[in-house]
Amino acid sequence: MFPEFLESPTYQLARQQYERITGLLDLPQSERERTLWPRRAIVVSVPVRMDNGATRIFPGYRVQHHLSVGPTKGGLRYHPDVTLGEVAALAMWMSWKCALCGLPYGGAKGGVACDPTQLSRSELERLTRRYTQEMIPFIGPHVDVMAPDLGTDEQTMAWMMDTYSMHVGHPVPQIVTGKPVNLGGSACRREATGLGVAYLVNRTAESLGLSGRPLRIAIQGFGKVGAAAAVQLHRFGAKIIAVSDVHGGVFRQGGLDPAAVADFVQRGHRLVDFPDADRITNDELLTLDCDVLIPAAIERQITEHNVRRLRCRILAEAANGPTTAEADAILREQTDIHVIPDILCNAGGVIVSYFEWVQDLQSFFWSEAEVRDRLYRQLEAAHHQVQQYRKKTGFYIRDAALALGITRIIEAKKLRGLFP
Ligand code: NAD
Repeated sequence: MFPEFLESPTYQLARQQYERITGLLDLPQSERERTLWPRRAIVVSVPVRMDNGATRIFPGYRVQHHLSVGPTKGGLRYHPDVTLGEVAALAMWMSWKCALCGLPYGGAKGGVACDPTQLSRSELERLTRRYTQEMIPFIGPHVDVMAPDLGTDEQTMAWMMDTYSMHVGHPVPQIVTGKPVNLGGSACRREATGLGVAYLVNRTAESLGLSGRPLRIAIQGFGKVGAAAAVQLHRFGAKIIAVSDVHGGVFRQGGLDPAAVADFVQRGHRLVDFPDADRITNDELLTLDCDVLIPAAIERQITEHNVRRLRCRILAEAANGPTTAEADAILREQTDIHVIPDILCNAGGVIVSYFEWVQDLQSFFWSEAEVRDRLYRQLEAAHHQVQQYRKKTGFYIRDAALALGITRIIEAKKLRGLFP
């Protein structure tokens, strides 16, 4: 198991971050090791009857990083490049994020190596149900709770909830979060990650004195997170000058209307064909002259090859792990780009997932205003703690956020002791 983790570049990135922080904090080796390795790593094969009658086998994964303070929590990703190592890295980041935000969860992540854009709806349903069935021995509302991530959505969660509920014989909405609202989902969960990104971008712009004029914003990845952040920032008065997806992007100096772009894509058009805008590549988007750059797609997009060409004032990491360790070392020295690190920047999603789980457990649902208010208060608290810790230690902002999360987990493990 461990050799494959070690080979994954995304796992290497998470591990390098972890070792940097435990080194800065001068923690003993035994404490470092205990929190590094995942508690459980599950590999399954997911056989799916395809629409043409053939059977295909897809590899499926779930990694539960630690169960020291509550159930594990984390998304499920459908993407052709998913590996056990990537999922292990994403599970670690979830742990640190939950600890940073004071949520009673360890981190987890799951994935199936498939291209969801090439599967029919019924193939996706069979794949999701079979993956859920394979995971039943390892999940539960107090063991491990899944949510949408790259390539999955509310419908995926509805199928998972149904499969688990049929297995136990009664409805268990709290087995997943990010469900449709009429199955026990929470108000605002769909847009929660984007709302959080927009909130922190505005807070940071304010502190840098950039709020006097409309912020010019470029967003890589116009999916659930990128589109919701764009719509919210546009509502706050920002100019969304460029957006992209896996096929490329569009740019308009005077600003795009993100709701119109989302509507265009939903009607089945390609984003790159959006009218009255210039086509650009993803690489061009990342290096546009703008106030805020938001990578909201996949890992390792800001690298040592493009980091020196970034022309933003704020780098808001909506994706998980969008910046490589080499690029981050350059950003750390470069004081004119202010980073909002991923474990803080995209925490709005897991915060509202936590609210959804709590609402499901008590079968008592909150209004949209209540969810938003609680989300902003919880994000503000995490943001404030990172700023205070940074002032106290002089750490770079990513190191401050990671150190807060990691020390909380290590402390919880010490308090519980080692079983037996
Ligand atoms: P999504 O599948 O809804 O959207 C992903 C977008 O990225 C799509 O527009 C896709 O075309 C684009 N994309 C994929 N590969 C790309 C590439 N190589 N180059 C450029 N664009 C590419 O996924 P999402 O839920 O919006 O997640 C995006 C990121 O945010 C992921 O890193 C995910 O882990 C992270 N995240 C998501 C949530 C959530 O609530 N969904 C919460 C926290 C973090």
